[in-house]
Amino acid sequence: MKRYEYDVLVIGAGPGGSMAARYAARNGLKVLLIEKRPEIGVPVRCAEGISRAWLKEVEIDIQKKWIDAEIDGAKIYSPDEKSVVTLSAEQAGNEVGFVLNREYFDKYLAALAAKEGAEIWLKSPAIEIIKENGKVAGAIIRRFGELVEVRAKIVIAADGFESQVARWAGLNTVLRERDIVTCIQYRMTNIDIDEKFTHFYIGSCAPGGYLWIFPKGKGEANVGIGVALNKIKDTGEAKKYLDRFIENHPELKKGGIVQIVTGAVSTCPVPKHLVDDGIMLVGDAARLIDPITGGGIANAARSGKYAGEIAAKCIENPTKECLKEYEKKVHEKWGRKHLRNWYVKEKLASLDDDTLNKLMEVISEVEMKDISVMAILEAVQQKYPELIEEFEDLL
Ligand SMILES: Cc1cc2nc3c(=O)[nH]c(=O)nc-3n(C[C@H](O)[C@H](O)[C@H](O)COP(=O)(O)OP(=O)(O)OC[C@H]3O[C@@H](n4cnc5c(N)ncnc54)[C@H](O)[C@@H]3O)c2cc1C
Repeated sequence: MKRYEYDVLVIGAGPGGSMAARYAARNGLKVLLIEKRPEIGVPVRCAEGISRAWLKEVEIDIQKKWIDAEIDGAKIYSPDEKSVVTLSAEQAGNEVGFVLNREYFDKYLAALAAKEGAEIWLKSPAIEIIKENGKVAGAIIRRFGELVEVRAKIVIAADGFESQVARWAGLNTVLRERDIVTCIQYRMTNIDIDEKFTHFYIGSCAPGGYLWIFPKGKGEANVGIGVALNKIKDTGEAKKYLDRFIENHPELKKGGIVQIVTGAVSTCPVPKHLVDDGIMLVGDAARLIDPITGGGIANAARSGKYAGEIAAKCIENPTKECLKEYEKKVHEKWGRKHLRNWYVKEKLASLDDDTLNKLMEVISEVEMKDISVMAILEAVQQKYPELIEEFEDLL
């Protein structure tokens, strides 16, 4: 078996992996970024919504080529669709601002890594981790049919939601059924929607999740659904919910489907352990998706940056103790937020349509600029005092 040696091996060339490779290489390390697919960014398994807020932190300059649409805000619809809460892009969180062309976006991020000197291998899946004296020391990779051994002081697992690398390394990122949202999305053309907003539909139309329409411009949009696994009997049910929704919306029904995307997101708090001797987890592999929105691109990119930088600091001593600086940073950044959002997600999933309709009616009457936890609480107390107990812990 051919043997190669690097400081850092990054497994998976999504936003998490490319950013990890970029920052590790920038800090002087010899980096290999591997991707199992023959082309970065393809096939797209994403609704492609991002906010602008985090791009500066990871030094990504906005490029026209990877923006399909610019979005002013989000509209959230009550189950009966009688109430609509409109949020500005700033209020709406990590998914609202741009609708990307991820095919180009992911390639652009990989190019940034290459620019810093990271080497990239495509069509090269990691199939096994190499461990030496209990410490991760590289991986076996199938490269164009041939097995090769890549030795590295640090392995960064950026292999996405289905991550196997974490499991091979003995890190526990196992998800409970209720913390997995299974998704199906259609790229639709020739539909009529307000293209300045992303649209979210909640309630029994998408149990434990939501339905979305993310405009791509010129009558095209990503129309999808995420449903909590514990709320359905089999994953095929998600498609039935989506088809029913489209059937009931003439503005969508008249459109055509040009692409189908399936996938899943985690909706859990941040796992306790994200590093071990010689290994770090980033992005979806580290379960860093926001439990309410299901957005993970920003957190993947940011965690990748932190991992790349801290890998450089620890390269002469890549022990669990040294790499824990990364784990601590991730917990400080998202630990509390994701725990709170996980709790809110659990609560929202337990509310029936009638209660959600009332809640949305109240929120839709609060001035957008005034929307805050207290303002909502006060409005609920005034209009539906019987509900206040239900929402107290949530709000
Ligand atoms: C239907 C759907 C809609 C979504 N919509 C949004 C959205 O609108 N906004 C948002 O922010 N997030 C969204 N997400 C989540 C978002 O796509 C992820 O959070 C994001 O892609 C995570 O980036 P990552 O780099 O961690 O992983 P990924 O982007 O999944 O990249 C992992 C890479 O690793 C590669 N890989 C896997 N195993 C191996 C291996 N053994 N060897 C080599 N390579 C390997 C994969 O091929 C892949 O390229 C959505 C997810 C789904 C499923």
